[in-house]
Amino acid sequence: MPARFSAPRGTFDVLPADSVRRAELYVAASQALTRAGYGRIETPVFEDTALFARGVGASTDIVQKEMFSFEDQGGRGLTLRPESTASICRAYVQHGMHKLPQPVKLWCWGPFFRHERPQAGRFRQFHQLDVETIGTDDPLADAESIILLDGILRGIGVPGVELRLGSLGSPASRAAYREELAAHLRSHENDLSADVRSRIDQNPLRAFDSDHAGTRETMASAPTMLDRLDSDDAEHFEAVKGLLDQAGVEYTLDGTLVRGLDYYTRTVFEFTSDRLGAQSALGGGGRYDGLVAELGGPETPAVGWAAGIERILLALGERAEEPTLDVFVAAADGQRERALAAVTELRGAGLRADLDLAGRSIKGQMKQADRTGASRAVVLGDDGSAKLRDMDSGEQREADLATILVELKESGG
Ligand code: AMP
Repeated sequence: MPARFSAPRGTFDVLPADSVRRAELYVAASQALTRAGYGRIETPVFEDTALFARGVGASTDIVQKEMFSFEDQGGRGLTLRPESTASICRAYVQHGMHKLPQPVKLWCWGPFFRHERPQAGRFRQFHQLDVETIGTDDPLADAESIILLDGILRGIGVPGVELRLGSLGSPASRAAYREELAAHLRSHENDLSADVRSRIDQNPLRAFDSDHAGTRETMASAPTMLDRLDSDDAEHFEAVKGLLDQAGVEYTLDGTLVRGLDYYTRTVFEFTSDRLGAQSALGGGGRYDGLVAELGGPETPAVGWAAGIERILLALGERAEEPTLDVFVAAADGQRERALAAVTELRGAGLRADLDLAGRSIKGQMKQADRTGASRAVVLGDDGSAKLRDMDSGEQREADLATILVELKESGG
């Protein structure tokens, strides 16, 4: 028996019917971001493992459990990228982008890889749209970034969108808050999940993400970072909120919003949709003022977000459809070469045109024309005649092929 393969667990094939919406989303995002002055960057799909350990944070779930890491033939430790911010900051430093006028505004789109337990909306290879504004700590940049994602989601009609907004403060106030939170957790140690208990010192904030009942109860009485912002951070956060209010972007304040990555400072946010199940996050991000320096660059404040393409498509709901043809050129046996020349000419003029490649009879070709949804067909008879047929009404008339082609090209499909 020859072997049969399936796509690996947690991965999927994007079939032609699924790719239409994906392409529409790409075009909408690309237009919105280009209009807002963002340039597209493409970084490699794998990077040095150390980049993510350093950039994303050694204590995060992503680095501890979810990376697809491997050694190459030269013994170098490499990892399929689990997120894009670390790679983009690496590129910013590597290419000396801090010497450009600031901020540098970048976006990317592509596949990402996390070894997570697959379920609806959660995959091991998924796609993200990612936006970064590097080189400014102005609250305007936080607001612009959030307004852009809000606009993209609303522009393509994602239903049930909600925005949660918080601030994690600066590293100093967060460190003090972490101590306070760790003490709170220690005083409720027996109520916590084993996972949270083992990470009290390493990463107490992650306890807010737990769905363990005892942990949740403990967290309900915990102070939040929003109660502990220092005056600069509080002022920054007030400014961001004010700008969102002015822009008419609605949000809910959430002092428990942590996000699963270590690099965030100050603003954090997450967009969700009530059309998604347990995996309700459409996208999220925040400010990461220390990351560029952490990766060897100068002190450089920055803000950005990533949105999950599959999540957005899931929230939009099914609308699988393949693009339909403008013209199908059917041809009797001796006329196939003319058919190929005709579709090539039509395609050159911007029409979607196709022909039979499976040796079907004229009758079979007309059935095929119908299946493709073509609105018109050209029929090349074995006597050299040419007919233009309206596929909806069934009306057809004979004319010279060159005349038919001119007419089709002028009608623009
Ligand atoms: P994160 O940076 O982890 O918040 O990821 C940003 C966005 O990517 C999330 O809000 C999701 O929409 C999407 N995402 C993250 N992980 C996955 C996954 N395993 N499968 C599908 N989408 C994901």
